[in-house]
Amino acid sequence: MEKNDFTDIFDYKIELHVHLDGSVRSETVLDIANQRGLQIHLPHRTVEELKRDIVITKPCSLSKLLESFGYFMPIIAGSREAVYRIAYEFCEDSAKEKTKYVEVRYCPHLLANSLEKRDFALERGNYTPRDVVLTVNEALEAGSRDFNISAKSILCCMTHRPELSEEVAHLCNEFRAQGVVGIDIAGEEFVPGTEPDECLHKQAFSYAKKNEIHRTVHAGENGPASAVREALDHMHAERIGHGYHALDDLELYQRILRDKVHLEICPISSIRTKACPEDIKQHPLLRLVADGANYSINTDDPIVLDNDLIDDYRFVSQMGLSNQQIIQGIFNAARSCFAPENEKKQILKDLVTVYGNNF
Ligand SMILES: [Zn+2]
Repeated sequence: MEKNDFTDIFDYKIELHVHLDGSVRSETVLDIANQRGLQIHLPHRTVEELKRDIVITKPCSLSKLLESFGYFMPIIAGSREAVYRIAYEFCEDSAKEKTKYVEVRYCPHLLANSLEKRDFALERGNYTPRDVVLTVNEALEAGSRDFNISAKSILCCMTHRPELSEEVAHLCNEFRAQGVVGIDIAGEEFVPGTEPDECLHKQAFSYAKKNEIHRTVHAGENGPASAVREALDHMHAERIGHGYHALDDLELYQRILRDKVHLEICPISSIRTKACPEDIKQHPLLRLVADGANYSINTDDPIVLDNDLIDDYRFVSQMGLSNQQIIQGIFNAARSCFAPENEKKQILKDLVTVYGNNF
């Protein structure tokens, strides 16, 4: 089936799991490197060369996927103009594939340059994580208006930087009226243990719950079912990013079905990171659909997976999902999104107009 068919059949798409820094256009990376005089830090001169190093085409691992960020993040981090541009272009790209509502996530600290310990920014400066949030809010607002979509954001804690989590939670609270709708934890999978560091993450999520900030947690992607249980019990997760391995624990899986916990499924990503078996007939999404679970279909990191939402829809269609089951995923996303209640009601109304009221 042609790409266009999927754009047109699914006229109103919703995406809940996509990373802002994982959605940068390759052309933009090269462009910004030129503008900032950072070519020396990027060994690529063309989109093809860049893609050869960063795109994960074969199943590998989550760590390998995260490695790709090391190429292009230093080009963007620390620059207000660059951060604004990627967030604004994100809206344009979402609108092109007829996504009408999207929650895009990122860790503000990774795009700032003010920290002494920096993951990506090449030089220390005065662009703070709070400035990054201001920039992204402004760009998403302008992009939402110009491209007629609704783009909200989720701020991510990073598993390897527990000392940042408290500030992430506070930023979510400060900017809740400017489109920041939730908190997440990303990076190499958070595996629960008893180290004190882990408490910092948990404290941030407890603060979020207390302040009615919505919560989603990357869990059960490459990690075990117990990480999903931990996310639900101790991080107060309302949604789970990926969550494939929850199905390995029958009791937990029954609980997820019973409580209608939303699982943000990223089909292409799940195969490339080897979170799920290569044999698509074994994919956990098929069981979720059959059992009436609360799932959605998402891209995760388009710059490294070279996908868009239409590719993921096509992929699950090859897996055996019907168009109705794909639309069900869109309704599920609408019901589990973190938008304010009045906007959520409107989205559901719009969906019924587009797809009917059988979902
Ligand atoms: Zn993710």
